[in-house]
Amino acid sequence: MTNIFGYDIEKLNDVFKEFNIPTYRSKQIADWIYNKGKTSFSEMTNLSKDLRENLAKSFEIKPPVLIKRLNSNDKETSKFLLEFEDKISVETVLMRKNYGNSVCVSTEAGCNMGCAFCASTLLGKSRSLKAEEMLGEVYYVNSELKKENKNVTHLVLMGSGEPLMNYDEVIKFLHLSHDENIMGISYRNITLSTSGVVPNIYRLMEENLPITLSISLHAPNDKIRNALMPINKKYPIKDLITAGKFYGDKTKRRVTYEYILIDNINDGKTEAKELAVLLKNQLAHVNIIPINPVKERKFFRPSEEKINAFLYCLERENISATVRKEMGTDVNAACGQLRNRYVKNTKKGE
Ligand code: SAH
Repeated sequence: MTNIFGYDIEKLNDVFKEFNIPTYRSKQIADWIYNKGKTSFSEMTNLSKDLRENLAKSFEIKPPVLIKRLNSNDKETSKFLLEFEDKISVETVLMRKNYGNSVCVSTEAGCNMGCAFCASTLLGKSRSLKAEEMLGEVYYVNSELKKENKNVTHLVLMGSGEPLMNYDEVIKFLHLSHDENIMGISYRNITLSTSGVVPNIYRLMEENLPITLSISLHAPNDKIRNALMPINKKYPIKDLITAGKFYGDKTKRRVTYEYILIDNINDGKTEAKELAVLLKNQLAHVNIIPINPVKERKFFRPSEEKINAFLYCLERENISATVRKEMGTDVNAACGQLRNRYVKNTKKGE
């Protein structure tokens, strides 16, 4: 059995060729799967009964399945634990915003970047995800939204995993998400977040996709960043900021810098000023994120006063910055926490 979930028209044409299925059928079948949300050939009523039966003998359509869903009290955020055929699970988050419905996609099951503040990396990486599997996350959430006559409009590649360490599959996934026969999501509504895999930022630039790049900076100097993010030892801040500047210049799209504020680690006025110097003369925006405390780590959220003082400091230096609105802490939205609990409790996800 071949699982054709995630196949685009071209790939469907390829596999159907040896069965002598005419190419116009591929478009019909893609419409049933991605537009109408059907995963059983028997429901594809514009195909002959014979064809439906024959297809079902050789092919199956299997997006990931739901293990657990949590909804936040305010109903804005839902978190899904989804499982693939090999029992590997990932977290996917739906955030209902005033401008649309955004899905936070995991690009790897777990992560091995080793960032000190992050829950996704605590159990290491099980494996990378295929493009079709990332699409499966979006598809699953989209089919849930369809029940309310809504759909997914925005994607953020900010779930578990480092997208630029799974480069080829992530690029394929971006194409599938954008394909009008599949998800039809505008590139401008897609944000890719990286911990700073510098060479692949340059590669991404050459893809000419008008997506937004988000860089997880979290520190204004190598000393603090080395302690928080091991990748900084390989690609230090100076190189990362240069790559960000090139990316903004080349794509004319504003780069966002994510900056988690951690009490007494990176949240002082000195750090704010250092950060302002780094980003001066750059098409950049700073997203300040008061840390989501992770039980296993001893990092705490600064006081409101400290958060505001940090923001004020950046604004005074003419750096565009906002404090990110918190969503879904009551459903454990800090990356990886739901999956970690599941994997530990069942030992099934590995
Ligand atoms: N590996 C990529 C994408 C996944 S992480 C990256 O590093 O960008 C997505 C974002 O969530 C990153 O900015 C990451 O630093 C942030 N994040 C991780 N743990 C967090 C926590 N405990 N509180 C707040 N943000 C966190």
